[in-house]
Amino acid sequence: MKILIVDDNDENLYLLESLLTGKGHEVVSASNGAEALEKLRGDSIGMIISDIFMPKMDGFQLCRECKQDDGLREIPFVFYTAIYTDKKDEEFALRLGADKIIVKPVDPERFTELLEGVIANSKKGSLPPSRAPIGEEAVYLKEYSERLIRKLEQKVQELEKEVAQRKLAEEELKAINETLEQRVAERTALAERRTEELTRSNAELEAEVSERKQAEQAVRKSEERYRSLVANIPDVVWTTDSEGNTSFISPNVEQIYGYTPQEIYEGGDRVWFGRIHPDDIEKVKKAYETLLAKGKKYDVEYRIKRKDGRWIWLHDRAIATREEAGQLHADGVFSDITERKRAEEDLKALNESLEQRSEELARSNAELEDFTYVVSHDLKEPLRGIEAFSGFLAADYGDRLNEKGQEYISVLRGNAVRMSALIEDLLQLSRVGRVQQEYATVAVDSLLGSARRDLQFALEEKKVDLRIQPDLPTITCDEVRIKQVFTNLISNAIKFNDKQQPVVEIACHEDETAYTFSVRDNGIGIDKRYHEKIFGIFQRLGPREGYEGTGAGLTICRKIVEAHGGKIWVESKVGEGSTFSFTIPKTRRQE
Ligand code: ADP
Repeated sequence: MKILIVDDNDENLYLLESLLTGKGHEVVSASNGAEALEKLRGDSIGMIISDIFMPKMDGFQLCRECKQDDGLREIPFVFYTAIYTDKKDEEFALRLGADKIIVKPVDPERFTELLEGVIANSKKGSLPPSRAPIGEEAVYLKEYSERLIRKLEQKVQELEKEVAQRKLAEEELKAINETLEQRVAERTALAERRTEELTRSNAELEAEVSERKQAEQAVRKSEERYRSLVANIPDVVWTTDSEGNTSFISPNVEQIYGYTPQEIYEGGDRVWFGRIHPDDIEKVKKAYETLLAKGKKYDVEYRIKRKDGRWIWLHDRAIATREEAGQLHADGVFSDITERKRAEEDLKALNESLEQRSEELARSNAELEDFTYVVSHDLKEPLRGIEAFSGFLAADYGDRLNEKGQEYISVLRGNAVRMSALIEDLLQLSRVGRVQQEYATVAVDSLLGSARRDLQFALEEKKVDLRIQPDLPTITCDEVRIKQVFTNLISNAIKFNDKQQPVVEIACHEDETAYTFSVRDNGIGIDKRYHEKIFGIFQRLGPREGYEGTGAGLTICRKIVEAHGGKIWVESKVGEGSTFSFTIPKTRRQE
C-alpha cells in the first residue's frame, strides 16, 4: 500500500518511513498539511498518517480538508501524535473524520498492529466515512481554536514549569558549581600546601640522604684506613668481649705467633693464656682482669710460646671500652719485642761484665797505688844514703880526686837529687788515689790568695802580671788538692814563659752543671801533637835545661780533677801561649 506520512520533523519522517517500508509499504512523505494535500491530489494514496502540530497547515486542518473532499474522503486517516493526548483532542479528531489516533510513544509492533487494524477496517468498508464531519465552519473554528488554545495553555504551563524547573536546576547547578568551586579552591590550596610540604620534606630528605651518604662515605674511608692500618702495621690489633673471648685479631698475628686468627678464636685459653710463660702468667691475668673489671689500662710484657715451640716476648697494651649494655670490652695491640729483650739482656750482661771489669780495675789501681807508695817510700831511704854519702865523699875526699873524679861525684849527687824529686812526685800521685780528703765549701778567691802567697818568690822574680777574675764562686771540693791544681798550673804558666812581661790570667765561667776554671798564659805554647801526651806521667817537652820539673805535675792535676768528677784539657799554639782549663761539677760525684 502507498502511505502518505506527514510530519514537520525529518527524523520522525525517517523513522516512520523505515518502519513502513520494512513492512512492505510504499511511502510518500510531506512536511505539512498543505504539501500533503498537493501530494494527495497527484497520487493515489492508500492511507494518511499525520502529525497534528505543524506549520502552514496542521493535522486537524488537513484532516478536515480531506474529509470534505469527495476524492480523498475515503482514504483512512490516522493521527500519530505526542502532543494531543487529551480525550477531547481525540474526540475532536474523530469528529473531524479521522480513523485512528495513535499516541506516541508506542512500540513498532503495536504501531503496525494498530495500522493493520485500520487497513482491515477500511477494506471491510467498516470505517465510518459517513461520520458527519464538522460541517459548520464557525463550530469547527470554535472547537479548533479551543483545542489549539488549550494546547497552547498546556504548552505554556509546561514551558513555565520547565522554565521554573530549569531555573531551579540552574540554581542548584550554580550552588553545586559554587560548592564545587569552593571545594576545588580548598583542594587546590590543600594540594598546594601539601606540595609545599612535600617539596620541603623532599629537600630535607635529600639533604639528610646526602648527609648520610657523606657520613657513610666518611665511615667507609675511615674503615678502609683502619683496615689498611691494621694490615700494614707490624703490630697485632685485637679485641675481646666482656667474657674475655677474642672477637677480633689482625691476620699478621700468624707471622708473630704462628697461629691463625681462626685457630685463636676457636682455641680459647688453650691457644692464648695456656701458652704464656709460667713466670709471667699471674702478672698477665691480674692485669687483664683489672682491665675488664675496672677499666684500668693494661700494659704488660710477657713471654709466650709460639706454635713452633719457640719463646717470644710480647709487649701487650689495651684499653677497656664500655659497650651500650654497660659491659666493658678490651681493644688492644701487641708487638713482638723479642729482639729488644734480647738486646736488653745482652746490654745487661755487658754492663755487668763492665762493672765487674771496672771493679777489678779499681782494685788493681789501688793495689798499684799501694805498691807505688811502698816502693817509693822504701826507695827514699837508700837514696837519702846515696845523697848523704856522696856529699861526705865530696867533702872528705874531694881534694884527693882529680877533676874527672869530682865530676863523677857531682853527677852522682845530681842524679840522686833528681831521683828523690821523682820519687816525691810518685808518692804524691799515689796519695791522690789512696787518701780521701773531706770535701769543704771553699771560696776560690781565698784559695787563690793562698796559692799566690806560695808562689810569691817566682812571681816577683819573673815580674809576672797575675790577673785573677773578681768574684770567683764558692765551690765544694778537696781544698788542699784543688789549690795544688791551681799552683801547678800557675807555676807552669810562669815557668814555660820567655816573654819580657809574662801575663797569667785566671777566670771562671759556670753553666747549669759545672764551673770551668781556666789558667791562661802568654808563654811558649805547646804543639798540638802533645796536648794529650803532657798529661802522662813524667812526660816533658823540650830541653830540661832552664825548665825545672819532673813531668808529673799535670798528671797529678788530672788525677785530682778526675777525682772531683771533672776533666782537664789544654788549648794552645806554639809561641802564642796556652790555656789550661778544668771543670768542677756542681753536684758531687757519687763515690
Ligand atoms: P814539669 O812541669 O815538671 O815538666 P808537667 O807535668 O807540669 O811537668 O808538664 C809537662 C810538660 O808540659 C812540661 O815539661 C812542658 O813541656 C809542658 N808544659 C806544661 N805547662 C806548660 C805551659 N804553661 N806552657 C808550655 N808548656 C807547658
